[in-house]
Amino acid sequence: MPKAQDTILEVDLKALKHNFEYITSKTQKSTKILAVVKAFAYGNDANTIANYLQDLKVDYFAVAYVSEGVALRDAGITTPILVLHPQASNLKTLIERCLEPSLYNAKILNEFIAVASERKQTNYPVHIKFNTGLNRLGFRNDEIDYIISKLEKTDAITAKSIFSHLAASEDLSEKEFTLQQIESFKGIAEEFSKRIGYQPMLHICNTSGILNYPEAHLDMVRTGIGLYGFGNSEKENKNLKPIATLKSVISQIHQIEKGETVGYNRAYKSESFTKTATIPIGHADGIGRIYGNGKGFVFINNKPAAIIGNVCMDMIMVDVTDINCSEGDEVIIFGKHPHSASEFSKAAGTISYEIITSISARVKRVFLT
Ligand SMILES: *Cc1c(COP(=O)(O)O)cnc(C)c1O
Repeated sequence: MPKAQDTILEVDLKALKHNFEYITSKTQKSTKILAVVKAFAYGNDANTIANYLQDLKVDYFAVAYVSEGVALRDAGITTPILVLHPQASNLKTLIERCLEPSLYNAKILNEFIAVASERKQTNYPVHIKFNTGLNRLGFRNDEIDYIISKLEKTDAITAKSIFSHLAASEDLSEKEFTLQQIESFKGIAEEFSKRIGYQPMLHICNTSGILNYPEAHLDMVRTGIGLYGFGNSEKENKNLKPIATLKSVISQIHQIEKGETVGYNRAYKSESFTKTATIPIGHADGIGRIYGNGKGFVFINNKPAAIIGNVCMDMIMVDVTDINCSEGDEVIIFGKHPHSASEFSKAAGTISYEIITSISARVKRVFLT
């Protein structure tokens, strides 16, 4: 039985390399790879992940916010960085740190042109985002005229790429809708390029788009979850390796008699003799209360142990009645398939994306190289 010291998120950089190479192998040589490292690289520590991928010669990075791009520049990242969701208040900083904005509506387009002009920029690279059905961010296709008229009036910015985002690329029952998004984007791209007189890069695929729609890879693909080891399908999960293992340790074991209760609000009532283990990880670490009361499982000695009672801020209690274990033994909350974050999160009716990005800063990241 492996022993453990503390709660850690162990991040396997070799697995990251494997995933990067697997995704690259799915694309043409000429297709650029953009690594999405928003939200601390999905909880894995963006600085380390981005530096590692930069050494592997990734073409581009994307983050959600300007502050995330600034942190990457501070960490030595010189690769181009697309900021997916910049706000007007930090466009100056964006330019100072050579970050490239996604411009998704007239307001941010005009604000960016104003800031770039004021700072005497010429041909500053921007990425024009079109909405093809997700209805989250992006210009409508009937706004092409408007965008072109603005671009023609200024030499401060240049459209380095135009892009869109798929709403349901992982869901093959929505294939018709996805194909319609792809067609709609290709139409927009054609009209835009014809009108502007040059050819911006085109991109629409996220990880599941890359895996399910090879005809839509275009000039660049944007991969997030795939790099971290999840393919959004059983088939693709077999080809990818989750890079993060959330580990902890048994702090204490209790023998609970029938009728006793466990945890706050006495939420668990023992119906017979029960052995419980207390583990130093709680909702402040990202294991939400939704995982309590029998929903979530951790693994001890390769056996599932249900989380019983309410999840506390700093601890959970699990049922180890049928598991041979002792204080100091290692606990795996999630790790490789089939005990991955994807399976763990299913218990709470959520997805890998949510649980891996929820593991809080208090959990130390340890890198395996
Ligand atoms: C987050 C995000 C991605 C990455 O999606 P994955 O499913 O994690 O590959 C790609 N593009 C945009 C616009 C995003 O917001």
